[in-house]
Amino acid sequence: MNWDREVLLKTPAEIALMREAGRVNYLAHQAVRELLQPGVTTADLNAAAEEVLRKHGAYSPFKNYGHPPYPASICVSLNEELVHGIPGKRKLQEGDIVSVDCGTVLEGYVGDSAWTAGVGEISPLARKLLDVTEQALSIGIAMMRVGNRTGDISAAIQQFVEANGFHVTREYTGHGVGRSMHEGPQVPNYGNPGTGSPLRPGMTIALEPMVLVGTHRTRVLSDQWTVISIDKSLTAHFEHSVAVTEGDPLVLTVL
Ligand code: MG
Ligand code: MG
Repeated sequence: MNWDREVLLKTPAEIALMREAGRVNYLAHQAVRELLQPGVTTADLNAAAEEVLRKHGAYSPFKNYGHPPYPASICVSLNEELVHGIPGKRKLQEGDIVSVDCGTVLEGYVGDSAWTAGVGEISPLARKLLDVTEQALSIGIAMMRVGNRTGDISAAIQQFVEANGFHVTREYTGHGVGRSMHEGPQVPNYGNPGTGSPLRPGMTIALEPMVLVGTHRTRVLSDQWTVISIDKSLTAHFEHSVAVTEGDPLVLTVL
């Protein structure tokens, strides 16, 4: 999935609006996280997020996105499902790991973030996968400084994940975010230092390590959305929308 979309630098006022969208996105995630327990359906998680968005006069950019139109406001991907799982009647079970990706459009600006968490007790391997993927996101964010290029972010994520024995996806990438959910630059989870777009203040990027235990290879299920690891090994996904500034990177999708 390659694209060559424009990189749109944001003004401080626009970044402030994106920060508000990010805050609402966080609240939607929080409502979902509070529900995580065996027996809850993935549709219940979607409903909880939608309610928070509606209450704040926001909506999800995921709904009706793409072809076929994505039918929900969040993605809920279980275990071997890497991304784009469609909420439905499936019930969470003890030991599952659940990836939740949520987007928010508020006042015309988008927040996009994701996390993976366990339902009850999870295996040591699942725990390590979650920790490594979350740390990979932090490591990537720390690279989002003027003077670096997008390839420095990609390389840092890839090196950390592979040093821990896991794999990064090739087909799905981080991306610029702003008035639309997907802008330039594309930020893969693999790459070479010193390559790609130079980072500039006002760039806003949704960084999203997607990590697989057994392989980097994926396939899409017959619902045309759900992406799974080809060997059905466990997968995890963490994401934040982040602004490049003159100084420290500013994470937008937090409280
Ligand atoms: Mg996302
Ligand atoms: Mg994203």
